[in-house]
Amino acid sequence: MKNIFICILTTLTLLACTTKQARLEDECLYSDSKTQFCFWSPIAEQMELRIYADAQTTEAETYALRKDKNDFWHTTVKGDLAGKFYTIRSCQNGKWEEEAPGIFAKAVSVNGTRAAIIDLSKTNPDGWVQDKRPAMTDPTDIIVYETHLRDFTMSPNSGIQNKGKFLALAETGTTTADGLASGIDHLKELGITHLQILPMFDYGSIDETTLSHGKYNWGYDPINYNAPEGGYSTDPYDPACRITEAKQMIQALHQAGIRVIMDVVYNHTYNVAGCALGRVVPQYFYRLNADSSYANGSGCGNETASDHEMMRQFLVESVCYWAREYHVDGFRFDLMGIHDQETMRQIRAALDLIDPTILTYGEGWAAMSPAYPYDSLAMKQWTYRMPRVGAFSDDIRNALIGSPFDHLRGFASGNPAGKQALCFGLAGGINYNNNQFGEGWSGEPMQHVSYITCHDNYCLRDRIEVSAPEETEETRLRMNKLAQTAVLVSQGMTFIYGGEELYRTKLGIDNSYQSPDSINTIPWENKLIYNDLYEYYRQMVQIRRQHRGFRLGTAELVNKHLEFLPTDNESFVAFKMKDLKGIDTAKSLIVLLNGSSEPIDTDIPAGKYAVLAQDGKADAKGLTTVSTDKITVAPYSATILAEK
Ligand code: CA
Repeated sequence: MKNIFICILTTLTLLACTTKQARLEDECLYSDSKTQFCFWSPIAEQMELRIYADAQTTEAETYALRKDKNDFWHTTVKGDLAGKFYTIRSCQNGKWEEEAPGIFAKAVSVNGTRAAIIDLSKTNPDGWVQDKRPAMTDPTDIIVYETHLRDFTMSPNSGIQNKGKFLALAETGTTTADGLASGIDHLKELGITHLQILPMFDYGSIDETTLSHGKYNWGYDPINYNAPEGGYSTDPYDPACRITEAKQMIQALHQAGIRVIMDVVYNHTYNVAGCALGRVVPQYFYRLNADSSYANGSGCGNETASDHEMMRQFLVESVCYWAREYHVDGFRFDLMGIHDQETMRQIRAALDLIDPTILTYGEGWAAMSPAYPYDSLAMKQWTYRMPRVGAFSDDIRNALIGSPFDHLRGFASGNPAGKQALCFGLAGGINYNNNQFGEGWSGEPMQHVSYITCHDNYCLRDRIEVSAPEETEETRLRMNKLAQTAVLVSQGMTFIYGGEELYRTKLGIDNSYQSPDSINTIPWENKLIYNDLYEYYRQMVQIRRQHRGFRLGTAELVNKHLEFLPTDNESFVAFKMKDLKGIDTAKSLIVLLNGSSEPIDTDIPAGKYAVLAQDGKADAKGLTTVSTDKITVAPYSATILAEK
């Protein structure tokens, strides 16, 4: 018994040493005279490194690896290996697994089947050393814009040369066919602060050898977590090319004052058998069911095990690697509810050491039930336990436009059922006024990601069309503006799905993950055709950015300054941001949201107001000035008043 106890203690000590001493990211340390390799496996009986002269040859030089006391397997190969490729193989119970790149391959061959040995320092574009994250003095400034590299650029009217590539977002001075700003310049003009890019790590659903076929995929199917996707590079056969071009994109966005958020999908891998995580240490990185089958909280056939020590370390090291090597400014965690809370806290702590302004948020849910205690998972409900990690608010989304699980209208399209949840979301998901609108789940309002649409489900135009088909387009445009206005005046962190400002449609397809470009691409011609809508969005972004009252940043301030005005109309929400002296240029702000088909007359506190938005028009400088204590709010519209 005593021996077993000592044995357990020794194992625990070793584990502790492992996490402190070794880094998974050091699996291939290149210099021009030698390359050092190290890979972790606690269960392998033997491990073997194979070095290939190129990506195709089947002939390899094989090296046996030796294990250290921390379960890392090492070897050093002399000579200059730049341009060569490697894989590893592990042997358990006398059986050799199939070869795979290491789990921390930073450069890979076409389709990511082999890891590449390169000099990373040579992948830096000119001026990379001077590259800096754009200043972010006030975290409440954040307005996130989500896009996919193809959605944003493939349109023949985008005016962008390198369509569908990292380099598309390194182009400046581009214009639509009508001569209006497109690409990066469009983002600057719109006024967003952060660009969230759909998966850009190496994923499996696009064959990089047939890119000319123009196949589309969102990319939620990770192969190599720490190398960029080859399909977005101009030469997927050159392992350095995708790295350099991803950096060029980030550099150009930084120069435009825009921060870059990576959509990371650590919750599952493309498959188990074909991925390094599944091959190198079989089963360890995944959660298993009682019968040893793979658990499937992701709905994609497997779920990773962030609660396992080295999977947790992998996540922490991986995000830090992207933050340091690529200067990535934030991470959006796909199905974050599959990860455990402790892992998210450790990720936050590790990123804080690099730069505390790096953003972290994710989907506080899973696709199916994860094989881990719910109470310990990073679910939305427990967001307050993970300071400065945010979660998407399906509360405000469903309240405003309806749930993705039905086609009902939402508050903005004439269904008052969501009024309570809308007020909850406007307050940023906190414990507001003793949980007046429901139990708060965000500790601070910026942890509540206010949004109505993202790549998942219908885009806004389609959602309103399927839920209010009998309405005219004019009315549906009013609903569109009203819904997005509510997001932009909420105390949460604002998130806009790219292309909504250009009235994008996916022709009624609510899951376009592999639909062609014709469905997914943003219609740049709409910048002129629906210019009224675009200008409204742009002005609303400005209104948010100019009025600190809409983004007070702490639950304490929200409770102090946010007051909902009494109304007995279920389709009407009225609130006041009061006593803003020292916080905002306005003494107070009044927001009136009419989700009905009738105009609503309402009393307001008597005063002199700049009208920032009214009847489907918005102007950050003010549409007009009124001195009044009564106002009429037009059907399906928002009125925003700034007290002078
Ligand atoms: Ca790929």
